[in-house]
Amino acid sequence: MISRFFGKKSAPTEGEKPASSTAADKKQPKRQAAGKGYSSKKPANKAQSGDTAKKNRRRNQSRRGKPKPQHAGWSIDQFKVPEQEGKTRFHDLDLDDRLMHAIHDISFEYCSPIQAGVLPHTLQGHDAIGKAQTGTGKTAAFLITIINDLLNNPVDEERYAGEPRALVIAPTRELVAQIAEDAKQLVKYTDLKVATLIGGMDYQKQLNQLNNALVDIVVATPGRLLDFQSRRDLYLDMVEVMVIDEADRMLDMGFIPQVRRIVRSTPRKENRQTLLFSATFTQDVINLSEQWTYEPVSIEIEPENVATETVEQKIYIVSTEEKYQLLKNIIKLPEASSVIVFANRRDQTRKLYEHLRKAGVKCGILSGEIPQNKRSATLKRFKDNELKVLVATDVAGRGIHVDGVSHVVNFTLPEDPEDYVHRIGRTGRAGASGVSISFACEDDAFLLAPLEDMLGQKLPCEQPPEELLK
Ligand code: AMP
Repeated sequence: MISRFFGKKSAPTEGEKPASSTAADKKQPKRQAAGKGYSSKKPANKAQSGDTAKKNRRRNQSRRGKPKPQHAGWSIDQFKVPEQEGKTRFHDLDLDDRLMHAIHDISFEYCSPIQAGVLPHTLQGHDAIGKAQTGTGKTAAFLITIINDLLNNPVDEERYAGEPRALVIAPTRELVAQIAEDAKQLVKYTDLKVATLIGGMDYQKQLNQLNNALVDIVVATPGRLLDFQSRRDLYLDMVEVMVIDEADRMLDMGFIPQVRRIVRSTPRKENRQTLLFSATFTQDVINLSEQWTYEPVSIEIEPENVATETVEQKIYIVSTEEKYQLLKNIIKLPEASSVIVFANRRDQTRKLYEHLRKAGVKCGILSGEIPQNKRSATLKRFKDNELKVLVATDVAGRGIHVDGVSHVVNFTLPEDPEDYVHRIGRTGRAGASGVSISFACEDDAFLLAPLEDMLGQKLPCEQPPEELLK
């Protein structure tokens, strides 16, 4: 569903036209619209003491890095996708050839509903608000918008280190890492550089990303981004496109004051393009999006369209004592090739992990108490099928984007129904089918009713088959 978002308060500023979808209405490239010179900047590094602010900024025109894969010689003729009634092809969006080449490599053919809804507007420079969960293709929607915009509007003036042209902020490290990984795939035939700034990882290493090459796209968690800003290693006043992902989760996690500070240090909303995504539109999210976006289009992808269609959902009624045995037998099922087990709390995940490991199950753990580098390594091993089972909390599990997960097990039912949708959405991805099995015991069965209310469907409860309890 596409709609204009809640009317609009402020009149358009000069150089800005009301949102519509004609090419002529495209926002001015934000760099010019911002009308700012570099000279107003503060020194990039406190340790430096040059004559002018401009001089103090670390000049860096370098585009060094690994050798790029070859784009020369590729043509769009090598990427054939037949037109199909009711579907939008990436070919229909007039995207840069280098971007199309990367899209071809990751085998996307048709736009997902959120991409088909949002891209025709955002590629014209308009702001957008998307109500969408992970699993809908929202990441590619905003990355394609950013990359195409940056490629279409190259900057001729001298640029400085630590001045990204696009910024994506997301609440969890896993999500940021995943977005950055997707971005790197999409920019691989371009000169654009992506930097990842996440807490819990080596600051200096992340700083090197900003210093070794001009960075175009920064993907960050709010706290670490502010660290970089306050140490004057990063400046956001050249940001042309800003993405706020999972705004509702930012609210839940108490990040909004930080996000506010970040948004304030980017150009005014009339002079930047803002894309805001949230799985839910609470009044708080609506208020924030009104403050931060300018005449946005609003796209809603309902959760029912997301995961539940491709996921077979089972609820097993069990006693607390039966849960471990049941889980171990589910993991042994021949069809259970790759399993994510969710629990509500860190201590529960830890116990589960230890239990499974002792039982000889190749498993990994993702929770807030595990250091980030270990979490990244675990996720990689799970993706590479070295680990059959991943035990995770909701926050850590949010960023898991692994195709081919056969089963999601909810060892404990989530207290927030939204988390349920997120959890089961880890399976049944990219058109594949998946199974979600939730354990409901005497302690948490009461959580089923609100879950069913949100899903708008009954979740049939059953006794687990006898052989799974032995
Ligand atoms: P997201 O909602 O961004 O987490 O994306 C969910 C998954 O869908 C990711 O694995 C993407 O690679 C995949 N995906 C996104 N867009 C498309 C598309 N147009 N066609 C096929 N797969 C896609």
